[in-house]
Amino acid sequence: MSAAPKKDPAAVEAEVREKIHLEILKRTGAYHANDHVLLPSGHHTTEYIEKTLVTTEPSFTEGLGAVIAKHFAPWPVDVVLSTGPGALILSHCVARAHPSRPVVVYGTKGLSGGKRRVSLPVEFQRLLRPGAKVLLVEDLVSTGSTLSLLIDLVEQHGAHVVGIGCLWRRTSVDCGSKPVFSLVSRDFPTYDPEDCPLCKKGVALNEEFVRRRSHRKPSAVQEPKRG
Ligand SMILES: [Zn+2]
Repeated sequence: MSAAPKKDPAAVEAEVREKIHLEILKRTGAYHANDHVLLPSGHHTTEYIEKTLVTTEPSFTEGLGAVIAKHFAPWPVDVVLSTGPGALILSHCVARAHPSRPVVVYGTKGLSGGKRRVSLPVEFQRLLRPGAKVLLVEDLVSTGSTLSLLIDLVEQHGAHVVGIGCLWRRTSVDCGSKPVFSLVSRDFPTYDPEDCPLCKKGVALNEEFVRRRSHRKPSAVQEPKRG
């Protein structure tokens, strides 16, 4: 939500809510602001979010999950579907708080023929039955590619996506025609090193997150840009 000269009360309320949620994410240690961070792409930014830390505080995750559940409460939901460990923790909290008492299932991420894909463990196949109403849950949506895979998976089973609930969504991501509710919608400003205002001011560059990634095994490397 960019700063506009005139704001209606709903926009102000959304902004306040977003600030509260950013504070919560800051308290988990996942969200870093007012920093000067080197990204894996080589760009510099002032903000960074560590995906793996987002769901480490159970009471925060439960509270955030309940807000997402409340938003989708008017719609009946049979199944909450996610993929990835962080999203699964959050999806449990969303399902627990949703009045329809949906079941929780997860897809597993993998590669097939060099392409990323999400598949459903065979035990879950009967739960994702034709006509089932499915709420997708993600922790961070940075490109929307995982969501597209989940939507395809739901549609292959003849089920319907009721909506998408997430903690953080890059404002620029297009989630198609599905209703999306994100606690935070925000893009990081990123700069080429040559044009970076923080470099110009001589602020020390934080290379911690890139260094940490290069210490992981290639198979375990998280690609935040492809989430
Ligand atoms: Zn810089």
